[in-house]
Amino acid sequence: MALVKVSEILRRADEANTSAIAFNCTDYNMSYSVVAVAEELKKPVIIMLYPEHSHLNNCTQLAGFAGMIRELAEQVETPIGLHLDHSSDYNYIMKAIRAGFPSVMIDGSMLSLEENILITKKVVETAKNFGCDVEAELGRVGFAANSDQDNLDMYTRADVAAKFCKETGVDSVAVAIGSAHGVYIETPKLDLKRLDEINSATDIPLVLHGGSGIPAEQLEIAFTKGINKFNVGTEFFQLYYDSIKEYCEECKEKGNVFDMPKYVQNKLMNYLREKMKLCKM
Ligand SMILES: [Zn+2]
Repeated sequence: MALVKVSEILRRADEANTSAIAFNCTDYNMSYSVVAVAEELKKPVIIMLYPEHSHLNNCTQLAGFAGMIRELAEQVETPIGLHLDHSSDYNYIMKAIRAGFPSVMIDGSMLSLEENILITKKVVETAKNFGCDVEAELGRVGFAANSDQDNLDMYTRADVAAKFCKETGVDSVAVAIGSAHGVYIETPKLDLKRLDEINSATDIPLVLHGGSGIPAEQLEIAFTKGINKFNVGTEFFQLYYDSIKEYCEECKEKGNVFDMPKYVQNKLMNYLREKMKLCKM
């Protein structure tokens, strides 16, 4: 089927009292693996592009990536969503929307609350004209390497979240409740009480970033308390690159480089089968 709106996937997740999973992908190997496993398990899934992978690392281009995911989605029955991850640049977001991204994230979390509201509102107003969904970030999900997940000053406050959602009209919001991007030094502990408060104060889907390395027991609880989109990047990339390395080492003797994509896709698909069990749709 055609791509499904991310807001529609999140609405279904909310109804099922669970979370959809969103995977960062850079290329066809990763995207194909995600779509194939989602189809096999009959679960909706969201594929995200992190802007730096396009404009800094030259893995892909915006329209090329959007076209690739659209084509993959059309070959399966399960709902596939496409989303632009973290961008703080209004013009870049508009470029992504024109290139075919039906869902975008405006990350104003480095700004003051008033500035975050202003930029988010501006993106929402324009995106609506294109029927595009918008995710924002409130509080700040920082980096695990800096132990940002323990910095309470960066956590989202329920009263502020209520004000933010009302004033911006955003479709979903990423909250800071004890997760962070990258590899955790110590096992993170989500502030589930705070999540409950934010969930009661707002009426839109909440998003959890920094999903690599959070214990499943904590995630399962978070998914019943308003988290309807769960982002996974680091551990998926790590596995991808490790699998390539592993294949290269193994194939030195065999001398066959052509089977590398299949080998890597199998590794990724085994991981994805386990990970997607967290999504109870
Ligand atoms: Zn993130």
